Parts: sequence; structure tokens; C-alpha cells
Amino acid sequence: KESTARENNVAKIKVVVRKRPLNRKELSRKEEDIITVHDSSFLTVYEPKLKVDLTAYVEKHEFCFDAVLDEHVSNDEVYRETVEPIIPIIFQRTKATCFAYGQTGSGKTYTMQPLPLRAAQDMVCLLHQPVYRNQNFKLWLSYFEIYGGKLFDLLSDRRQLLMREDGKKQVCIVGLQEFEVSDVQVVKEYIERGNAARSTGSTGANEESSRSHAILQLAVKKHIVVKDTRRLRDRDANEAKNTKAVGKISFIDLAGSERGADTTDNDRQTRIEGAEINKSLLALKECIRALDNDQIHIPFRGSKLTEVLRDSFVGNSRTVMISCISPNAGSCEHTLNTLRYADRYF
Ligand code: ADP
Ligand code: MG
Repeated sequence: KESTARENNVAKIKVVVRKRPLNRKELSRKEEDIITVHDSSFLTVYEPKLKVDLTAYVEKHEFCFDAVLDEHVSNDEVYRETVEPIIPIIFQRTKATCFAYGQTGSGKTYTMQPLPLRAAQDMVCLLHQPVYRNQNFKLWLSYFEIYGGKLFDLLSDRRQLLMREDGKKQVCIVGLQEFEVSDVQVVKEYIERGNAARSTGSTGANEESSRSHAILQLAVKKHIVVKDTRRLRDRDANEAKNTKAVGKISFIDLAGSERGADTTDNDRQTRIEGAEINKSLLALKECIRALDNDQIHIPFRGSKLTEVLRDSFVGNSRTVMISCISPNAGSCEHTLNTLRYADRYF
């Protein structure tokens, strides 16, 4: 089958590392860039260390990934490297996930923000292609957040959502608002609205949003035209019943990886959140490892995050992990943790 051949061209799991440039603050502190990207898949971390007698030395750590993007790579190139190849197979019943992982400040949001917009652009374009024009495919968008193990709809006043599993082990998020989107401008507006609704708490936006996972989904659905008039009333009652999911792509801006270590913080709430984040990032790693090994049993139940994404891991799925790293010496420990997390063979 030709479509199968095309699907197989896209790796089931792809791990990409993106290094950001030194920022102004780091430059003004004369911090060193300790990361060298050698070619498109290979990097070295030069870890500054001290001997017991306080003489300085450098320990080298080498890593290899499917792709390594240095500080000169644009967001557009990131899109082409990660998401673009997946878009056509979303129209062939593929469920895909694209994660941004890394410590707070490493560039997760910077990397993730433009991706759904570019994806939507390409998806809208495909909808109008001759092959799909008569299929009644429509594009739907939803945007929610997992914060402290709870789900909040970012497109309906942070309404709390519950997750339910139906008889067929399908995950359903009760009450999640989905919007049909037919042009990119509208997609942009929804994304901005959702971003504004992300956890801000009392301490300021970046601080709090680094403790939550934001999940933006673009789904292709087939609208079933009801010919039998006896069923028309049902359609009015529940439009959703007459749509069938074809494929889906989820963009996940994960909580700051260092937050998982907040388990000894003085503040009880912070400790609880830290434990939850730690649990979800470990569970995610376990699920991706299981997928990578073609295991039949995928340990979704490890966390809310993996349970919510369950339907995107089974069957014909694709996963892209973008690990974001800061280049400065001060972030070395977090950077090594991120690279070890991303390393498929670690
Ligand atoms: P995170 O979401 O991981 O906490 P951000 O995406 O907010 O990190 O990035 C932190 C800061 O670094 C932001 O000001 C962002 O604009 C900047 N930044 C991140 N990645 C890059 C990059 N590749 N090029 C230029 N600036 C970047
Ligand atoms: Mg962020």
C-alpha cells in the first residue's frame, strides 16, 4: 500500500535537541557557553569541575541524537525538522505528539509557540487539496493545561475538566471545548486566548506556568453527512456524534524539568506540585521508552499527563521530543539531566 510506505518514512520516535543562544544576562555575567554542536546529530558538554585541591578541570560528555539544532537554527527550521513531515500522515489516521522538555528558561515556550500555527497553516492547505476536498474533513482545536494533577480548559475560563475512560478504553476529557478552525488567523486568536489563561498565580506568569503542562491539540475530523432524515434530530442534539476523528497532533509545552526536584521545598503546595511534575515526567519517559521498544503494554497509568495522551500513544502514533537546553555554565547540571532524559539508550 502506498500510504503505508509514506507513513513508514517518518520515524515513530524522533528526539531532537535544541540549544538556545546565551542571553543578555548571561553575556553580561561573562558566562561561558559550554556546549558545542559538532554536526546535525552530535554535541559535547564541557562540564567545569574542581578537584579536591580546587584546581579547575573540564569533564567532557558526548551525546548523539536524531537531530541537534544549534543556536543559529530558526523556529522555521525547527518546524521543518520536527513537525512538518508528520502533517500529511495526520490525514491518514496518525496520532502524533510533540513535546518540549527542559529546565525553565531553556526555550520550551519559544520553541513550541510557533509550531501549532505553522502546522495549522499546512493542515488548512491540505484540507483544500484535491485528494481531501471531498472528504468533509474539518480541523478542530482545543487547548488545556495540567496543573497539580488537575485539568483546566484554557479556552473556557479555566473550567476544571475531568477525564473519563469509556468501555473501549478511549480517553475522554469531559467538557473540553473544541473549536472548528478553518483559517490560520482564527487559530492564532485561540492560541493567544489560551496563552493568556495559563496559570499565572500571584508570583508572575513564567514562574507559575513553569509548573504546568500546556497541551494544544489540532484534530482532523471527518464530518458525516446524515442522509437518513430520522436521524437529523440527533444531529441537532449533538453535532459531535456526527464527526469521526481521523488524526490528531498534540503540542505539549511541559513543566520545567527542574520543578520535579521541588520535593523538598519549604512550601507544602510547591512540594506537592513538584512531586506531581516529577511523576509525570518519569511516566512520560517510561511510555516513550515502551513505545521505542515496541512494547505491547504502555504504562499510561503512571500520571495524569500520560493518561490524557493515551490515545496518542496507541496504534499508528508518532512522537517528537524536543529537548531544550541552555548553553551557560551555570545551567550545566540541568542541561546534563535534560540530555540524559532525552537519551534513548540511557
Ligand atoms: P521556557 O519556556 O523553557 O521557560 P522560554 O521559551 O520562555 O523558556 O525562553 C526563555 C527566554 O529565552 C525567552 O526570553 C526567549 O525569548 C529566549 N529564547 C529561548 N530560546 C531562544 C532561541 N532559540 N533564540 C533566541 N531566544 C531564545
Ligand atoms: Mg515556558
